[in-house]
Amino acid sequence: MSRVMNFNAGPAALPLPALERAREEFLDFAKSGMSVMEHSHRGKEYEAVHDEAIALLRELLGVPDAYEVLFVQGGASQLFAQIPMNLVEKGQSADYVVTGAWSEKALSEAKVAAAMLGGGVKVACSTGTGEGKEKSYVRCPLPAEVKVDPAAAYLHVTSNETIHGVEFEVDPARPFPQAGAVPLVADMSSDFLWRKLDVSRFGLIYAGAQKNIGPSGVVVVVVRKELVARGRKDIPKIFQLRTPAENRSLYNTPPTFGIYMIRNVLAWLKGLGGLGAMEARNRAKASRLYQVIDAHPGTYRCPVERESRSVMNVVFRLPTEADEERFVKEAKAKGMVGLKGHRSVGGIRASTYNAVEPAWLDALAGFMADFAKRG
Ligand code: PMP
Repeated sequence: MSRVMNFNAGPAALPLPALERAREEFLDFAKSGMSVMEHSHRGKEYEAVHDEAIALLRELLGVPDAYEVLFVQGGASQLFAQIPMNLVEKGQSADYVVTGAWSEKALSEAKVAAAMLGGGVKVACSTGTGEGKEKSYVRCPLPAEVKVDPAAAYLHVTSNETIHGVEFEVDPARPFPQAGAVPLVADMSSDFLWRKLDVSRFGLIYAGAQKNIGPSGVVVVVVRKELVARGRKDIPKIFQLRTPAENRSLYNTPPTFGIYMIRNVLAWLKGLGGLGAMEARNRAKASRLYQVIDAHPGTYRCPVERESRSVMNVVFRLPTEADEERFVKEAKAKGMVGLKGHRSVGGIRASTYNAVEPAWLDALAGFMADFAKRG
């Protein structure tokens, strides 16, 4: 077996011990004579896995009792619509901070969902410059740039823009905006569980699992109970956040295998020392790359402002697209894959999620220095 160094943006690398555990348990889970996928979601074998995944999430992230931890389907994209459907009242609007392509998507879905229910959305701040193909996002805003309407249903931020490599609060100079009494809602799809976080600063956090914590098919929602209770009741039950909240995320059949894999990944994360250890490891990984980029300005250029440079997705350009193509090809020949930037922006992107091994970063940084030297 030969596994590659996987820098994919998502679905992304999973920790080898979590995969090996799945392989061991695949045909005969907990001596039950069947795979976990073949168990009823109402049976004690699966329920133990389900409860363990939630308990590990609570423990690792230090989730306060006043918050629910939910599993939802439909991807983070479904939450783009589901959050305003739950939280925007008639005549009310929600505020959005736009720092890249994913916040643009969240905003445009919210516009449709809120309008359907007699509400609206507003842009509290956008850091985008230029138009159309030239549009670019290179930073998170300073707190003073975010104009929050005190009557807003919530303030939405994308804590890490996966395509643009722009992340909140990796530098103290670019903290998450203060929203006062307005609940802060964060899409943490590409930077969930890589660092310690004070959950009580947020009203709702959501994250698709397929980058840092498992396979695709599951979205984790951490939400203040009071917001769940306040949620609208005139929307279909399947979209109300109270439905998974009241049913331990077992209202209908959940993606059992995905949740099982999350359990395996979180057990691995706990074994490594939890979020404090993971943050130190991740910061060291990303800074390996930013150092090489900055040391070779003739070859590499990171478009993102220093204070907003993502620890999860390191994006950079080479002088020409032909250079970038050669870079990706040569890296692949050395066993490093997934380095091509998102098709909408081009360039190179190295995703350095939790499961990406420090040794892979050493290999990539070494290759980059050598590539720059060769010219
Ligand atoms: N938000 C962010 C920040 C993302 O990176 C992605 C996926 N790349 C999404 C939302 C959409 O997630 P999904 O494909 O699970 O709907």
